[in-house]
Amino acid sequence: MDFELWFLVIAPLMFAAGWWMRGLDTRQRRQETHGLDRHYFQGLSLLLSDEPDKAIDRFIEVVRLEPETIELHHVLGNLFRRRGQFDRAIRLHNYIANRAELSDKERTLALGELALDFLKAGMYDRAEQAYQTLSQIPESRAEALDALMRIYCTEREWTKAIEVAEQLEREVGRDLHGDITHYYCELAARARKSNDLARAREFVGKAMRINPNSVRAMALSADLALDENNHEEALRHWNDIQRKSPQYLPLIAQKKGDVLADENPEKAVAFLKEVFAQTGSIDVLDAAVKRLIVHQGKEEACAFATEALQRSRSLSAFAVMCQVRQQLNPEDQQTAVLADMTARQAKKLARYQCVHCGFLAHTFAWQCPGCEHWDAFPPLRVEESKKSGGGY
Ligand SMILES: [Zn+2]
Repeated sequence: MDFELWFLVIAPLMFAAGWWMRGLDTRQRRQETHGLDRHYFQGLSLLLSDEPDKAIDRFIEVVRLEPETIELHHVLGNLFRRRGQFDRAIRLHNYIANRAELSDKERTLALGELALDFLKAGMYDRAEQAYQTLSQIPESRAEALDALMRIYCTEREWTKAIEVAEQLEREVGRDLHGDITHYYCELAARARKSNDLARAREFVGKAMRINPNSVRAMALSADLALDENNHEEALRHWNDIQRKSPQYLPLIAQKKGDVLADENPEKAVAFLKEVFAQTGSIDVLDAAVKRLIVHQGKEEACAFATEALQRSRSLSAFAVMCQVRQQLNPEDQQTAVLADMTARQAKKLARYQCVHCGFLAHTFAWQCPGCEHWDAFPPLRVEESKKSGGGY
C-alpha cells in the first residue's frame, strides 16, 4: 500500500519533469537554430551586398554552432580563397577532406577545392600532388588532367605537358594538337638557345608531324636552317608560310629580305615592298626603307616612305618618314627633334593585343602572358590592324 501511494505521487512528478526537460531542450534547440538561421541569413545578405569580410564573420559563427554543415564550410572556404586568405581556405578544405564520415563524392569535392586553393596560392607542387590524386578518381580525372596540363605549362615543363595533353586526347577526345605543337616548339626553342641544334631539329620535326601548317614550326625550321647557313632550306620554309599563312609574313619578312639581299638586293626590296602593300606592317615598311637607303639611295627611300604614309596614315608610318628625312638632312635640328619624338611615341603605341583577354604587349608572343592562350596575338600591331581593316 505504501509502495502504491509512493508510486501515485512520484509517477506524475517524473512525467512532469520529463515534459519540462523536453520543453527546455526544444526551447534551447529552437534558440540555437534561430541563432544559426540568423547568422546564416545575415551572412547571405552581406554576401549579396558585396561585403564578403562581414559575411565571413557570420559564416564563421554558423560553422562554430553547427560543425557538421559541410556546405557552409565550402562557402566559407571559397570566400577565404576569393579574399586571398589562402592559408585559411587550405586549413578549412583540408579539415573537410579529412573528415571520416564523408561520402566519396563529398571527399572528391573537398579535394578539388583544396587543389584549387593550392593553385591560386601559387603552391604548384602541392597543387600538382592534389590533382594527381584527383586524376586517379574516374569522376574527376578529366578536370584534374586539364588542371595538370595548365600547371605544367605555367611551370614550363613541356615534356610533362605533352604527356598529359596526349592522355586528354586519348581518354577524353579533346583536340589539343595545336597546343602540343606549341609545347614541342617550346622544347625546340629551348634546345636552340642552348646550341643543341640536333635536338632542336628533332622537336621541330615532331611539331611539324603533328601540325604541318604550324607557322611557328615553319619559322623555327627556317631559323634552324639559317643557323646552319642553309639559305635554300630557310627560303623554302618562309615560302611555305607565305603560301599557307600570308598574314604572318610581317614576322619573317625582314629575315627573308636579308637572305634575298645577299644574292639580289633588288629582289629583296621588291619583296619587302610587296609584303608592306599586302599587310601594312610598319616593321616591313621600316625594313624596306632601310634596304632602299643602302641599295637605291636616301632620296628613293624618302619618296617610298612618303608614298607609304599616304597609304597608311599612322603615327608609326610618319615616324618612319621622319627618320628618312633626318638622314637626308642630318644638320637640321628641327627634323632631328621631330624624328626622335615621333619614334618614341610610335614605339609606345606599337602593341600587339590578345584576342581573348585584351592583354597588350610590345613584342609578339605565341602565348598570351595574361590568359595563357596560344596563338592569341594577331601578327599585326593594333594600329596596323585597324589600318588594314582588322582582317586578322
Ligand atoms: Zn590573353
